[in-house]
Amino acid sequence: MQITKTEETGFCFGVKRALRTLEKAAHAYGAVETVGPVVHNQQVVDQFARLGVRVVADPDEIKGEVAVISSHGLPPQASEKLKSRRLTIVDTTCPNVRKAQLAAKRLAEEGFWLVVFGDPAHPEVKAILGWANQQGVATLESSDIARLGKVPKRVGILSQTTRNESEFTRFVNDLASVLLPQVQELSILNTLCDVTKRRQAAALELAKNVDLMIVVGGRNSANTRILAEICSSAGAETRHIETADEIQDAWLEHGRSVGVTSGTSIPDNVIDEVMLKLKNWKRGPNKR
Ligand code: SF4
Repeated sequence: MQITKTEETGFCFGVKRALRTLEKAAHAYGAVETVGPVVHNQQVVDQFARLGVRVVADPDEIKGEVAVISSHGLPPQASEKLKSRRLTIVDTTCPNVRKAQLAAKRLAEEGFWLVVFGDPAHPEVKAILGWANQQGVATLESSDIARLGKVPKRVGILSQTTRNESEFTRFVNDLASVLLPQVQELSILNTLCDVTKRRQAAALELAKNVDLMIVVGGRNSANTRILAEICSSAGAETRHIETADEIQDAWLEHGRSVGVTSGTSIPDNVIDEVMLKLKNWKRGPNKR
């Protein structure tokens, strides 16, 4: 069985930075609470729980003295509310997410109505709209905007950082054909994350040349789910797993070629375990 791993796997710089900051905060303050999981990976969240880090779904649920903003960010209105309670705030927002937030803020201040290409339920997308003072909408379907009928004269388009570049391009093209007859100004900002773009391109290339792609990452991780969609669209049988234990013998039979890639919130040791399990896998009587 031939096994190939994409060059870049494991934590991205934004996740590494967020986890370093959270670890320091946990050591400095003892019990701290994060608004939403610091990154979308349950194993990482469990590891931090052992250091006393608690996850709350909503800023209002914070009971202690220290509130941590996750790598996906928070709407400024929510941060202000935390500050007004005189809590210590530790901000782990990824710099790339911050760029998208500031882009949204600037566009909104200049009078643009925003269309954010992203999952409206994702915390990063909610935060971006918050930075635009809710002056806009988030969607993955250009038809949603077409259905609105009349839109403001100045429209800004940007993307959730981890979306697929070719889908964002398609979305922008579709939206432009819907909006241009009625708007005066259309401003398109590319807020896609470079790390995500590189991983998607590498995964697509590998997926074209193997039978099976194993995509490692949290099930609730947007960037991992998109990687899996890209691999599947390239024609490779694709399995999204969180840990090596999930690999099934049936996937590996017939001496298949296997590609491995990962989302950005998965630790290196999990990838190493996946690689080890694949390398040790033997068919027939030697099967492990
Ligand atoms: S994937 Fe990109 S945007 Fe998301 S945390 Fe990593 S560097 Fe930041």
